[in-house]
Order: sequence, then structure tokens, then C-alpha cells
Amino acid sequence: MSGANFGANSANACANLGKNLSATTQNANSAQSKNARKGYVLLISGPSGAGKSTLLARLMSEFKNELYFSVSCTTRAARNGEIDGVNYHFISEDDFKKGIEEGLFLEYAFVHSHYYGTRAKETEQALQQGKIVIFDIDVQGFHLVRDKLKDTLTSVFITSKSANELKNRLLKRASNDDIEKRLKNAQSEMKALCEYDYLIINEDLERAYEQLKSIFMAQKLKLSCYNVNEILSEWIKS
Ligand code: 5GP
Repeated sequence: MSGANFGANSANACANLGKNLSATTQNANSAQSKNARKGYVLLISGPSGAGKSTLLARLMSEFKNELYFSVSCTTRAARNGEIDGVNYHFISEDDFKKGIEEGLFLEYAFVHSHYYGTRAKETEQALQQGKIVIFDIDVQGFHLVRDKLKDTLTSVFITSKSANELKNRLLKRASNDDIEKRLKNAQSEMKALCEYDYLIINEDLERAYEQLKSIFMAQKLKLSCYNVNEILSEWIKS
């Protein structure tokens, strides 16, 4: 089952986010605010065990003032060392379903036998502040947000160099995760990689990090991430 089965509320959350984003841009332009940048979403997907969390933690620590990590809600249990409110909001299945009913989620999906979802309100607020919002979500979630976020979205698929390497990494992880299920899901997730803007094959952590950083830096300079009218009017005035 995927989040699409409960699509109406998520669709509303997405539609609101889209509207609010364009309102933010207009407000920023008309108020001639000093903030010449628009927020955007840097969305990361990839098989479990590919190293997404490690790479993102490093990006977050290097660029903490510019980035906002969207902390997802999940019904899975916390792993050793994971902190509620930092890695995830760990909630019960009842609370998750209530959140769905209340339209709390921008998107959500059933992944590896648990629910995972992105809270709409926090994302919206961070984007309004011109932040770069990081989503670490699965392929189903990517499909649910990509049409709504349009040019506000940059998507990156991160994977290991081989299926075998992925298996070794999952085996090394001290967790109760169902490894067989995660490996099986990895096969279908890999089929979606051609739908993303960028691909990182994480063979060497240092190199993969430099690649992720390059994508983030290049994206910041994209014209669609600026409030162009504001820059022009400031330029003329000064
Ligand atoms: P893990 O249990 O290993 O932390 O995450 C399992 C999978 O769920 C990963 O592929 C991760 O990207 C995905 N995931 C985490 N949060 C969300 C979310 O809010 N929405 C969706 N659709 N997937 C998520």
C-alpha cells in the first residue's frame, strides 16, 4: 500500500504548499525584502543502506545556516542512537493515521512495512524563510511531490556500486531491520533512478560527498532559486 491510497488529503497539502510558495515569492517581491533567494527542496532517495543519512548529516553540519532537514514522522521503532525529533518523529500507527485524516502530510508512504511521512507545515515555513529544505524520502514520496514542487525541487538518487555492496552495508548495520525486505525493495527502487535529476554512486564516501555538495552549490545558483525582480530593482537602485 502506498500513500497514494489516501491521496486526497496529501493532494490538498501539496496544492496549498504550491499556492503558498508562489504567494511567498510575490510578497517578497512586492515588499522589496532583502531576501533575494527563494527556498527550494533538495530531495534525496535511494535504497536503504546506500549512505544517504551519512552524506546528508555531513551536508547539514557544513551548511547548517542555509539548510533545513525535514524530520519525517514514522511508525517504525527508533534504532540505537536515533533521537526522537532529530532523526524522525517516532509516532504510533494510530497517531500517523490521525495525521493522514487531518491532512498533516505533504506526502506519505508505506515503506518496508512502516509508515513514513513529511509534515507539510514545517516544509512550508522553511521555504518561506528562503531555506533549502532537505527531504530524505523514498521513490513513492518523490512521485507524490514532484509535480507539485516543480522547479522548486531538485532530486538526487544515491545508490551503492552494486547490490552485493548494499547487502554488506545492511548486514553491518546494528539494527533489527528486515534486511531481505530492504534488499527486495532496493531492486524496485533502482528502476526509478532515471526519473531523478542527479545520480550519485556512493563507492567512496569522500567523493560521494563532494558530488552531493557540488549539486547543492550549483542548485543555489540556478535562476529559479532567485527572486529575480528583487535583484533587478535593487541593482537599479544602488
Ligand atoms: P529508514 O527506516 O532506513 O530510516 O528509512 C526507510 C526509507 O524510508 C528510506 O528510503 C527513506 O528515504 C524513506 N523515508 C524516510 N522518511 C520518509 C518520508 O517522510 N516519506 C517517504 N515517502 N519516505 C521516507
